[in-house]
Amino acid sequence: MTTRAAWTWPTLHDGQRTVLLDMLIHGDMSRAELARRTGMSRGSLTRLSRDLTALDLVEEGETDAPLGRGRPAERLRLRPEAAQFVGFKLTGEALYAAVTDLTGAVLVTEEHPLESRAVEDVIELMGQVVDRQRETYDRVAAVGVCLAGDVRQRRGMTEMVSSYFLGWGKVPIERLIRDRTGLPIAVANDVQALAAAHHWFGAGRGHRSMVLIGLGAGIGVGAVVDDKLLQGSRGRAGKIGHLPVECSGPTCDRGHAGCVSAFVTIPAITRAAGTDSLDATFEAARSGDRRAHEALVAAARGLGAVGAYLINMFDPEKVIITGEGRAVAEYIPAELQDSLRSRLDPDAKPLQFDVQPFQFSDYAWAAAISAIQRLV
Ligand SMILES: [Zn+2]
Repeated sequence: MTTRAAWTWPTLHDGQRTVLLDMLIHGDMSRAELARRTGMSRGSLTRLSRDLTALDLVEEGETDAPLGRGRPAERLRLRPEAAQFVGFKLTGEALYAAVTDLTGAVLVTEEHPLESRAVEDVIELMGQVVDRQRETYDRVAAVGVCLAGDVRQRRGMTEMVSSYFLGWGKVPIERLIRDRTGLPIAVANDVQALAAAHHWFGAGRGHRSMVLIGLGAGIGVGAVVDDKLLQGSRGRAGKIGHLPVECSGPTCDRGHAGCVSAFVTIPAITRAAGTDSLDATFEAARSGDRRAHEALVAAARGLGAVGAYLINMFDPEKVIITGEGRAVAEYIPAELQDSLRSRLDPDAKPLQFDVQPFQFSDYAWAAAISAIQRLV
C-alpha cells in the first residue's frame, strides 16, 4: 500500500482571502461584480482569480447572458468539492458530527453517544470520526468544535475555560484535537457558532447585522453586528440567561425572581406547567390546560422582552430564533409582540422573530462553518 501525502489547505495571502471570503458570503459572481464589491482593480482580480483557480478553489463558470449589447461576463464559481470540513457539537451525552463542503453544504451527519466524558476519551472519539471521514473525503481541511461553554484565547490557541454539561474545567482543547488529527482547529461557543453559520450560509445570509436566540435547556444569544460576530473578551458575549424580564414571579436556580431562566427555558416552562416535556406542555395547553397555557404565555412574553432588549442594544436587521424551544415563539405571537413592543425604544422597528427549523446536528454544521471561517 502506498501512502499519499495528505492534502492541506493552501496558505492564502490577504487578497486571495478577501476574494474567497466575498464569494463564500455572497455567492458566485462575475469579476466585475467582485471588483465593485472588494474595491480592487480589474487587473488585480484577474490575477487573484487565476491564483485561486490554480489552487483548485475556484473555477470559471458559465457566462451570464449579456444585458443589451455588453460582452457576456464570465462568472467565478467556488468549487464546493475543493475542501471538506468536519464539525462537532459536544454535549454531556453525545457527540454530533457533520461534514460540509467548501460552500457549507452538509455532506453527512453522525451521532455518537458518549460512553465517557473523560477529556482523553472524547478527544479520541473525535479523532476516530475524523480518521474515518478522511477515508471517504480526501480534502479535509480543518475541524471545528462547538459546545455550551466558555472558550478563550491563550497564547494563540483556544482553550476551554469551563463546560457545565461535560463537567470540564480548563482544557487546552484546540491543541489536543490538533495533536490528534494534525489539522487546523476552530473552537467556539455553540450559540455563537450557530449565529456565525446562519450569517454566512443560513437565515441571516445577506444581513450585515443579525441576532440569533438559541432556546433549549438554556438560552443564549449570538450577535453579528456590521458583519462581525461579537465574541467578547472571554467568548461570553450574549449570556442573557439571567436577564431580568419581570419584577416578580418564579425564581431561577440562582434565586433571581423574574429572570429569563425562571420563565423562558424549557426546564422553567415544564416546571411551571407541571409537565415532563415541552411537547407535553403544548399538548396540554391545546387541550385546555390553564396551567400549561399560562406557562407558555409567560415564556412567550419573556422571549418578547429578550427580543426588545436585543433590538435596542444591537439594532439588527433580523432576529432569528432556533433551538429545541423555538416553538414557544409561535405559540402566541401576539403576546410575544405585545411584550416586545412595550419594551422597545420608541423609535425602534418591532421585528418579527424568524423561527428557524432546528435539529441537534445544526450545531455540528455550525462547527464545520467555524472551521471554514478559521481558514478564510
Ligand atoms: Zn436567574
